[in-house]
Amino acid sequence: MATTTNANTEAPEARPASNFLRDQIAHDVATHKFGDAVIQTRFPPEPNGYLHIGHAKAICIDFGLADEFAGKTNLRFDDTNPEKEEQEYVDSIQADVRWLGFDWERLCYASDYFPQLYQWALQLIRDGKAYVDDLTADEIRQYRGTLTEPGKNSPYRDRTVEENLDLFTRMKAGEFPDGSRVLRAKIAMTSPNLNMRDPVMYRILHATHHRTGDEWCIYPMYDYAHGQSDSIENVTHSMCSLEFADHQPLYRWFIDNLGIFPSQQIEFDRLNFTYTLLSKRKLLQLVQEGRVKGWDDPRMPTLTGLRRRGFTPEAIRAVVTSLGASRTNVVQDIEMLEHFQRDDLNHRASRAMAVLRPLKVVIDNYPEGQEEFVEVQNNPEDPGAGTRQVPFSREVYIEQDDFREVPPPKYYRLSPGKEVRLRNAYFVTAQSVVKDAAGNVVEVHCSYDPASRGGNSPDGRKVKSTMHWVSAAHAVTAEVRLYDKLFTKPDPNDYPEGGTFLDNLNPHSLEVICDAKLEPSLAKAQPGQPFQFERVGYFTPDLDSREGALVFNRTLPLKDTWAKIEKKAGA
Ligand code: ATP
Ligand code: MG
Repeated sequence: MATTTNANTEAPEARPASNFLRDQIAHDVATHKFGDAVIQTRFPPEPNGYLHIGHAKAICIDFGLADEFAGKTNLRFDDTNPEKEEQEYVDSIQADVRWLGFDWERLCYASDYFPQLYQWALQLIRDGKAYVDDLTADEIRQYRGTLTEPGKNSPYRDRTVEENLDLFTRMKAGEFPDGSRVLRAKIAMTSPNLNMRDPVMYRILHATHHRTGDEWCIYPMYDYAHGQSDSIENVTHSMCSLEFADHQPLYRWFIDNLGIFPSQQIEFDRLNFTYTLLSKRKLLQLVQEGRVKGWDDPRMPTLTGLRRRGFTPEAIRAVVTSLGASRTNVVQDIEMLEHFQRDDLNHRASRAMAVLRPLKVVIDNYPEGQEEFVEVQNNPEDPGAGTRQVPFSREVYIEQDDFREVPPPKYYRLSPGKEVRLRNAYFVTAQSVVKDAAGNVVEVHCSYDPASRGGNSPDGRKVKSTMHWVSAAHAVTAEVRLYDKLFTKPDPNDYPEGGTFLDNLNPHSLEVICDAKLEPSLAKAQPGQPFQFERVGYFTPDLDSREGALVFNRTLPLKDTWAKIEKKAGA
């Protein structure tokens, strides 16, 4: 399985979404491979963690393609491992699939098939195709051989059918301790495919299952349950990621030897992004060790984390669809996901003015105690979104960054003697500053031109800069959480010997600003409602946000052209 980095710099939406999966299904329909059966797919998560952006790809493929062919999709939990699975995950997965915009035909659980799977195991034993093995897990591993060495037969491989039936039913009855025996398929210890070297079908595990409780003390292995579960549901096209390609012959072996409905497995590439980890085991570790605040931490690549951060299902679906499917794993640039998200938010986000790091501006010639309202467009990209009234008064906040006492070259924002536009309000000119004991500018005194109301001067005078502002008397204070990449390296798994992926955690992935000043219309904003804070970025209220104690998450910054200029200049 080759892994390459995406070097394609072309605009992502310009690339055709080649999809050999669609071609395969179309071919199967045309040739009546499954007779007149409807196209049936499934999304089969293991409920051992939260869904992430990689799963979004599988979901869009499973649901999307079934839809295109007027087929059906089941949501099936492959819940064969009681030690790692929990109801919390079952619930979150359903919520996330719905949030992404899909609904399933049937909700299924591999655990519902435990009785059938057990019957099929008995059938294979009776047919001389499965046996109980007493080797320890370590011995089984040793006997398996390697890619270059064939395996060798277990001394228990030739037990009689009667003995195997007796031992297996007693395994089920709970007579033996965990790990003392397993049931194995009798295939071939010399197969070049390691998955075919008498794979384990059942293990003894006295563990409580989140659905079947203590009914079972033997549990089917994933590889014994997955293919037959597809078959039971008459899944025509069982699509999964590439790492299952080597398992396909085994799934096929079970289906052929049981004589059951032959689902067609097709593998596609796993989605991954730079600066992102999608291993559930590692994501769980981040949660358990408190490296992030939970599965829904806005820095996590989980769907619940992305949702909390302000990402939208539309953008996620658009990225995944544009990438299509291939047979090679490619690491996509994270900027691509961000590009799609900005594009989506640009159309839907209401504009608002918010000052993250406030600097007070006093307009000396503006009447004290006066207030007025200026009309502002809610979204220039969407005239239908209307306008709103924003209060203006003698004292306003601007960003600290928007004022320099000694302006560097090409700095067009406010500085002594320079005139700028306060967006939709007036032209102002900086006259003097007030400093604190340490010499920091804490207040800028300006004059304004009353004739420039609305943001234009009747004499046609031009200014080079338009700045956002918030009236000090009307501002609502908010906490703002700025997120950066969770890892410092494009490949978080790139660490020196003796290290771990945790060494690549970005210590600056979260910056909290406690007293941002927002325009008052934001006081009642709700989590998930998208906003573009003018000139700053896209934001949405966090789940922690309350009226009177607002908390906003930065979904993404706008592209900052000034930062680019500064960088170029080597500042
Ligand atoms: P684990 O990391 O525990 O092996 P997983 O991420 O493969 O788990 P599953 O619950 O087994 O999680 O995945 C459900 C489905 O999602 C599978 O069909 C799998 O192929 C698919 N899938 C998982 N990760 C990705 C990914 N990064 N890109 C595309 N499909 C994925
Ligand atoms: Mg998996």
